[in-house]
Amino acid sequence: MDLMEYQAKELFAKHGVHVTLGIVATTPAEARAAAEELGVVVVKAQVKAGGRGKAGGVKLAKTPDEAEQHAEAILGMQIKGLTVNRVLIAPAASIEEEYYFSFLLDRSNRQYLCIASVEGGVEIEEVAKTNPDAVKQIAIDPGAGVDEAKAREIATEAKFPEPVFEQAVTMIQALYKVYVEEDATLVEVNPLARLSGDVLEALDGKVSLDDNASEFRHPDHEAFVIRDEEDPLEAKAKDKGLNYVKLDGQVGIIGNGAGLVMSTLDVVAYAGEAHGGVKPANFLDIGGGANAQVMADGLDVILHDPQVKSVFVNVFGGITACDEVANGIKGALEILGDEATKPLVVRLDGNNVAEGRRILDELNHPLVTQVDTMDGAADKAAELANLNQQSA
Ligand code: GDP
Ligand code: MN
Repeated sequence: MDLMEYQAKELFAKHGVHVTLGIVATTPAEARAAAEELGVVVVKAQVKAGGRGKAGGVKLAKTPDEAEQHAEAILGMQIKGLTVNRVLIAPAASIEEEYYFSFLLDRSNRQYLCIASVEGGVEIEEVAKTNPDAVKQIAIDPGAGVDEAKAREIATEAKFPEPVFEQAVTMIQALYKVYVEEDATLVEVNPLARLSGDVLEALDGKVSLDDNASEFRHPDHEAFVIRDEEDPLEAKAKDKGLNYVKLDGQVGIIGNGAGLVMSTLDVVAYAGEAHGGVKPANFLDIGGGANAQVMADGLDVILHDPQVKSVFVNVFGGITACDEVANGIKGALEILGDEATKPLVVRLDGNNVAEGRRILDELNHPLVTQVDTMDGAADKAAELANLNQQSA
């Protein structure tokens, strides 16, 4: 889960990173009230995307009037395809210098990585290209972590200037606590600013939390979920305990086992090339227990994706045998009734396949086509999706 800036800052504060929290507003009137309380402020769009400043989503307001006007302009604005529903009203800071700092997961090297630069500010990617020496990358051994000595090493390497050096050492340790203790995969501060009076403060924050850890190690992370900011299909799937990821395509996919579903996506993408370029619409692994309710829940989510034009159910019977899966599909179609409106291509194989196929043959449902091979079924599903999208 990615956090909004104001949420990231809450975690920063919790672990002792110097930060100013500000007030979140969802209407211009709330923004005005916040500015009346805080004085000169910046009005900052809260969306899960960077580059808000460049997009006009960060504005200085000297008076409550101005704060209200900026909020009026920024709320409802689109930044990188995301609608702004909230603004953060933060006391304006007078910035002397902007630095960049992050901890992230370095998967290929199986360790953590710290990236730091005193040539910070908005364009860190640009600095990395034009002046790569100014962007320091420091490997962190996850076993050893970041103690004071390591924080000093990082601050020295990154060349934090003398007046804020000790604050940097403290802040680096606090940011590492956010990273490790919250099970984050990214903690980024850009800008980490030196304010007038040589005060170091995190003026922006970007945090990605590891959902696998959140569920059982951090029940408090649930509070960061903002319902109206979630993809409605993903939210519904999550409610039903389904392993679903929305993609940008037309062929809905249901399978059992992550590996099979991944290869189904590949096969459908390949088959789609011959059928108007249709693509898989989602990843959905219904796992081992492909009973009627799980199948119905899965189909329910996929059929409500307006982009979906056909559905490919690809099941390899194992512990859950094909006859149970076939009965699951049958039951799902009964549960869904009129809500089942798109063609289903079903490929069953594995344990008790003959009985599974017989059940679906006998059902003889107008929406269901059985194809015995995975490639053949993918081709059929892609063909139907393409036909349906042409007639739509
Ligand atoms: P981003 O563009 O999405 O990364 O949003 P930021 O929070 O980093 O804000 C963009 C830029 O706005 C920063 O690099 C700062 O230069 C500026 N900015 C942000 N907060 C303040 C503030 O409190 N005071 C001033 N003067 N500038 C700010
Ligand atoms: Mn930023």
